Amino acid sequence: MTDPIEVAPGVLVFTSATMCTTSTLVTDGRRTLLVDPAWHADELARIADELAERALQVDLGWATHAHRDHVLWHPRFGEVPRLATPAAAADAAAHLSEIRIALESTVPAELRAYAGEVTAYDGVRLPWSGPVAEVVAHHAHAPGHGGLWLPELRVLIVGDMLSEQEIPLCSETGIAAYGAGLNRLAPYVAQARVLIPGHGVPALTGTADDPVSRLAADRVYLDALTAGGPVTDLRLDRASEWLLGEHAANRASAGRA
Ligand SMILES: [Zn+2]
Repeated sequence: MTDPIEVAPGVLVFTSATMCTTSTLVTDGRRTLLVDPAWHADELARIADELAERALQVDLGWATHAHRDHVLWHPRFGEVPRLATPAAAADAAAHLSEIRIALESTVPAELRAYAGEVTAYDGVRLPWSGPVAEVVAHHAHAPGHGGLWLPELRVLIVGDMLSEQEIPLCSETGIAAYGAGLNRLAPYVAQARVLIPGHGVPALTGTADDPVSRLAADRVYLDALTAGGPVTDLRLDRASEWLLGEHAANRASAGRA
């Protein structure tokens, strides 16, 4: 895991050695929110160490969606509410044993027991007194995918979308839901100074790889997929076997649409 980078005041992003999975900590120095902490036992402990060094205690957890690498936890983060959108919480509950089995090769049993234990939250603003965080929910990539918009900081945490490494992963909820999710995120992307994807590098305004460019790239990919012709995307040029498999699954999904 990398040392955390502070992408905005009080917003720290850690990046896992596996799939560049990000963990985001949001704090005002008194209250602390932890989003999608991941992935390995030593990496979760590293996040706990950072919290201890900064004399911070977690008040709230947020899981963007119910995939195994986004619903992890460590006892050192404390017994605090771990929230997700109602659809994501239902998805986690319905697949709890599958989530834990999928983690068997990477996460020890004592930590797997915490995986997926999230509670449904139906509000718009997260229920805490730290920096304002609004839930931006949709069904792209996974049911009830819940991004977070921090308006005071103009930071957008999107979960598994808008990555410079991963093409849109549409096979679970379909192409139409993915397009609708991009539309849902678009007004926040337009205002964001910083966009934090679930896998990859944060996108910063004022750079070539800015949030608006990320959204545009995902739309170009989806449009090409829907048109059924060749898909040109830089992310495919350097894709792993796994990602190429996801591209094939997207194609199959587009064919059914
Ligand atoms: Zn995911």
